Amino acid sequence: MGGESRGVGMRNGVPARPAAAQASAGDLLHLVRSGRATTRGALQQVTGLSRATVGQRLDRLFRAGWLREGAGTPVSSPLGGRPSVRLEFDDAHAVVLAADLETRHARTALLTLTGEIVAERGTALRVDEGPERVLDRLGAEFGELLRASGRAADTVCGIGLAVPGPVDTGTGRIVQPPIMPGWDGYDIRGRLRRAVAEHAGPAGATAPVPVLVDNDANLMAYAEQRAHYPDCSAFALVKVSTGIGAGVVVDGSLYRGIDGGAGDIGHIRVPGAPGSAAALCKCGSYGCLAAVASGRAVAARLAAAGVPAASGSDVRELLAAGHPEAVGLAREAGRLVGEVLATVVTLLNPGVLMIAGDLAGTPFLTGVRELLYQRALPRSTAHLEIVTSRLGGHAGVVGAGALVVEHLYAPERVEERLAALGV
Ligand SMILES: [Zn+2]
Repeated sequence: MGGESRGVGMRNGVPARPAAAQASAGDLLHLVRSGRATTRGALQQVTGLSRATVGQRLDRLFRAGWLREGAGTPVSSPLGGRPSVRLEFDDAHAVVLAADLETRHARTALLTLTGEIVAERGTALRVDEGPERVLDRLGAEFGELLRASGRAADTVCGIGLAVPGPVDTGTGRIVQPPIMPGWDGYDIRGRLRRAVAEHAGPAGATAPVPVLVDNDANLMAYAEQRAHYPDCSAFALVKVSTGIGAGVVVDGSLYRGIDGGAGDIGHIRVPGAPGSAAALCKCGSYGCLAAVASGRAVAARLAAAGVPAASGSDVRELLAAGHPEAVGLAREAGRLVGEVLATVVTLLNPGVLMIAGDLAGTPFLTGVRELLYQRALPRSTAHLEIVTSRLGGHAGVVGAGALVVEHLYAPERVEERLAALGV
């Protein structure tokens, strides 16, 4: 629901029906969840609904167990009269499962509906073992999380998955992923539901629960923007790990482009980069940004120089230890990424540019800043904050969980779900 004021108006000389009369139970829930209106009085004022109608709609939300009256001090009503009790989203009625899949590792989490991590696990696995095995492993990890936290599978209302590849979010399938061989077009939703059922019992109390799949950089951007930069209307995150990808959040919503391809900056060619002509990318081209400036590329250069490193996470450890060659190469990688980001920043004019992933750290950021400020117009960087990740390794699962909750409790979906619950 938009933030526009809702009142009685005239259109073409015909009295318009007050838009407020249409505010549904889903709209009221959204107002409470977003903090825009958290008392009966405030809901009446914002929607223009009568006290009785607000009461009827709230009763349905109470009966569903989705709203509760807060235990805190009553707040004074904007309409005057006696103070009203604060309404709260009741996050105890269900939980969400989320996973963040990387090329050699996966993190799984059980989250509340308000995004708190109840339990979390990390496990080593290889994404190139293919979807069948990997999704079965995730099902087993989810089963362990549910057992450890004493929750039954039927309390799970949805499953979110972050993957290191481009996703068609309409089908939940991955589209031609350069670093996920065997995953192209695979039915992730069906397999993951089956894996959870095999390891923990069918998720959800009645109907099959939604499984939402999205790109990892997208979900990290979504989580970070919501948690730490809620007022930033143009937010970009760049993840530099095995590959390189970006997520963009505009006005609080993920911007994916028309085919889910927005932000896939790892395959932009950087012909001027050292060794780029010979740098074969996982996508089959030479000289892609990911082939010269990713964690994998830096690891390969370190290995060639005799430093033991095979992956982005090895580079992360070397950087943490201040290894001089790793530091130098990370800064060089930062400069290459900064050159591409100059275009990104000029196009989007974001308020925050966040660097996340294995290479995120001072040397890489220094390199990014060197080239970015040199190449981008001052006007597009004047108010730009360049920062590192705040949620760290949790961002992917937090973003995947949030995506599921926003999907399930979106005003347009609430009516159908309330009807299914018989309230
Ligand atoms: Zn490429």
